[in-house]
Amino acid sequence: MKSADWLLKGGLVATGAGCSRMDVAVAGGRVTEVGPDLDVEARELLNLNGAYLLPGFVDVHTHPVYLDDLGGLSVTAAHGGVTTVIHFAYAKPGQGLVQVIDEFLDQGRAGSVLDFGLHGGLFDPQRQAEEIPVAVERGVTSFKMFMTYAKLGWMTDDYQLMRTLDIIASVGGLAMVHAESGLATDYLEDKYQALGRDSADAFLATRPGILEAEAVNRAAAMAEVAGCSLYIPHVSAREAAQAVARLRRGGQRVYGETCPQYLTLTGEEIARQGPLAKIGPPLRGVEDQRVLWRALAAGDLDVIASDHAPKSKTREDEFFDAPYGSPQVETMPAVIYDEGVGGGWITLPRMVQLLCENPAKIFGLYPKKGALAVGSDADLVVWDPQAERTIAHATQHSLAPYTLYEGRNVLGGPVLVMQRGEIVVRDEELVASPGRGEFLPTQAGAAELNELQPKGAA
Ligand SMILES: [Zn+2]
Repeated sequence: MKSADWLLKGGLVATGAGCSRMDVAVAGGRVTEVGPDLDVEARELLNLNGAYLLPGFVDVHTHPVYLDDLGGLSVTAAHGGVTTVIHFAYAKPGQGLVQVIDEFLDQGRAGSVLDFGLHGGLFDPQRQAEEIPVAVERGVTSFKMFMTYAKLGWMTDDYQLMRTLDIIASVGGLAMVHAESGLATDYLEDKYQALGRDSADAFLATRPGILEAEAVNRAAAMAEVAGCSLYIPHVSAREAAQAVARLRRGGQRVYGETCPQYLTLTGEEIARQGPLAKIGPPLRGVEDQRVLWRALAAGDLDVIASDHAPKSKTREDEFFDAPYGSPQVETMPAVIYDEGVGGGWITLPRMVQLLCENPAKIFGLYPKKGALAVGSDADLVVWDPQAERTIAHATQHSLAPYTLYEGRNVLGGPVLVMQRGEIVVRDEELVASPGRGEFLPTQAGAAELNELQPKGAA
């Protein structure tokens, strides 16, 4: 009889291709066998009694620079079932890109309970883009720029965008853009503020969906000229989702991501929760949600990621001065399972593609990550489809002082989270120590779009 560290028996193993009852053996941190009724002698046996066994979730959009640091973010992520995170290493104006990457590497190796990769975030590409080749040598191969936030001094103009896309293409990397039309948005903000319009209400008027689509199209045009793979994070507007779909049908490699907040919350939260629901791009309407869910189901968008950006703010803050962002990483899998799978928008295999396989493929981590297959890292989530939980800030692990989902009931959640054969979270308790996480060099932007498509009904 073969031996193993773990035998996970009787789970419903879900992959992008379908679900079936399988046993899984784990040895040396990897999956060594997957099959029905495995004859394996294991040190530890876990009887799953028909619970789902999923690959650990891969969240490629996290910001460990606000209330949660790199270690703290990994803890709150792990409680949701996330096992791999790719953080944005934000190089602010005046900072060197490689210097920031090295700081993040040190912090992650010291404090992360999860394996992690990094994206470079360029706030000043004019000075920072030259460092891209060195960043690539460090294992950082995806780079984000902002087409908005001109007033904050974060916006990359078209000259620098074109130049940076050219540099990223020359090293075979992946460009990511925050696609909102920055100067047009700033004009609209000035206009509505001058009119004295209620700020929360004016917020949506300053960010019409068509201006998100405009930025998607502009970035894609330049990426095509540069021959650069392009990733659009946090697609929120139906017009932007439609733009991404059209570009892909034209044969361009444009990957599309959306986030749980755009799929499950609407702009009404801005009236209810004020600055807490201030996010860029903004929460939009029910019709936008429907278009996003359909695009995910149809294969016109590839990834769901959290854009976890926990900030210190209250309902009473001045709306226009309040920072953008919300805590999302811990709630993401349960909210997506409950509304997406439970609500009939996507199948469980498609959820596994959107939260595991596709992000791992796009960033070159597959099949080490994002897969539950022989040879893959034993990054696993035992998912109880019957678990009934009520989301509350009090039980979350982010340092954010709120959750936008307060009081929401969700059906289905993680009961055990394992990485490389080590238990990270069991029965909602953290059992792993900081510093166990490993850095994951990426190889972003090489996945073909047809590798990311739904594989049909399971
Ligand atoms: Zn962004």
